[in-house]
Amino acid sequence: MDAPLKSSDSFDLIVLGGGAAGFFGALAACGHNPALRVMILEKSPRLLAKVRISGGGRCNVTHDETDPSRFASHYPRGQKAMRQLLRKFSAADTRAWFERLGVKLKTEPDGRMFPVTNDSMTIVNCLLHRAQQAGIEIGTSVEVVSVTRQVTGFILSTSTGGALSCRNLLVATGGSPKNDSYDWLRALGVAIVPPVPSLFTLNCPGSPLKDLMGISVGSAELKLAGTVLRQSGPLLITHWGLSGPAALRLSAWGARHLKEMNYAATVLINWTTLPDEDSVRQVIGARASEVPGRGIENNPLFHLPARLWKRLCGLAGISPDTIWGELARKDKNRLVENLYHFSIAMKGKTTFKEEFVTCGGVDLPGVNLTTMEHKKITGLYFAGEVLDIDGETGGFNFQAAWTTGWVAGRAIAESRR
Ligand SMILES: Cc1cc2nc3c(=O)[nH]c(=O)nc-3n(C[C@H](O)[C@H](O)[C@H](O)COP(=O)(O)OP(=O)(O)OC[C@H]3O[C@@H](n4cnc5c(N)ncnc54)[C@H](O)[C@@H]3O)c2cc1C
Repeated sequence: MDAPLKSSDSFDLIVLGGGAAGFFGALAACGHNPALRVMILEKSPRLLAKVRISGGGRCNVTHDETDPSRFASHYPRGQKAMRQLLRKFSAADTRAWFERLGVKLKTEPDGRMFPVTNDSMTIVNCLLHRAQQAGIEIGTSVEVVSVTRQVTGFILSTSTGGALSCRNLLVATGGSPKNDSYDWLRALGVAIVPPVPSLFTLNCPGSPLKDLMGISVGSAELKLAGTVLRQSGPLLITHWGLSGPAALRLSAWGARHLKEMNYAATVLINWTTLPDEDSVRQVIGARASEVPGRGIENNPLFHLPARLWKRLCGLAGISPDTIWGELARKDKNRLVENLYHFSIAMKGKTTFKEEFVTCGGVDLPGVNLTTMEHKKITGLYFAGEVLDIDGETGGFNFQAAWTTGWVAGRAIAESRR
């Protein structure tokens, strides 16, 4: 499929970036107008590299949620845009698109959707095969180093010294937490929201829970002290701090704030899922009346794992042989405190090996969301993580790539430029 690049080559569409968004954009353009001459340029030697490693090698393609507003609520950045865009190409459309090409998806109990093969190569091969069928030309190990606007279209200079021209350019170069990665777009006049990392786990070096690594809680609420940021979900204690969906969601919604704080913050954990401290106090009071003679340490509340419960009691100063009927008022207060807002110091972050994304990128007010074309630069389109759109973990980031890629590809096919 790889074509030798010639300076005379001219295309209806060049797609920058051979990732999920780039492939989907190119395929949508060809799907709507098979006569188009389309090329994908990828700077690395590997196509669809992130799809290959995604979802632990299984590729979490999308999320099983049909309502666009509820789906869009999982995007800390680009929520309003996604609400609008998902009406044009939704998770159900993604499923149908892949199923039409023989790739069946399954839904896990938490809503994440994977290929039934549990193998990301199923998705990679499907996209590569379809691109070949559609006659899309592909250049790998070709980095585009500059883009010059023409009266109609663009001239691209490549790292190999070549030049290519195209009438439409789809930028699907993905995210990058480095600000200068976007300089070539700024030079074209595209406004960029400064990028920062999202979806990371929280380092808590002095955590009194460190040795409980591996313990997880089905549902806990995490808050960033001094802010309104709070997220709930399963929480995992690790040897470096906190992970699991609740921690990742907090990192996504707090991405910019945490960067400003240099990743030093106080995290408050509500292990009980109860809405207020009084409710926690009442549950403890009720237990003390029901079983006054039973030992506290061996009698966990709130379905907490026994070792975690023991640690929370120990940190409240409750000695191992104390029974419920003898719980002193000050110990009870400390236990309530530990259960409702257990305070833990965060210092630093660790990239989540399963998925990390960039918060920031191409500023959405500059983009026409009906077409994904820049409002002032005719023929320049955007798709995927290069945009200031990013989601929680769970298939939301790929869905943004499929949706924006499809909308851009269709608009390019219909533009008749
Ligand atoms: C380890 C990991 C696992 C993940 N798992 C999931 C998951 O299971 N589900 C989910 O929804 N999301 C997941 N994500 C996030 C998801 O992979 C991304 O959001 C998605 O790949 C974005 O697609 P994209 O096409 O916009 O960008 P990318 O996939 O990053 O593709 C952009 C491509 O552009 C190329 N490029 C960049 N600059 C140039 C240039 N100047 N010239 C030519 N080419 C260029 C890059 O080399 C790259 O191949 C994961 C991310 C990571 C890191």
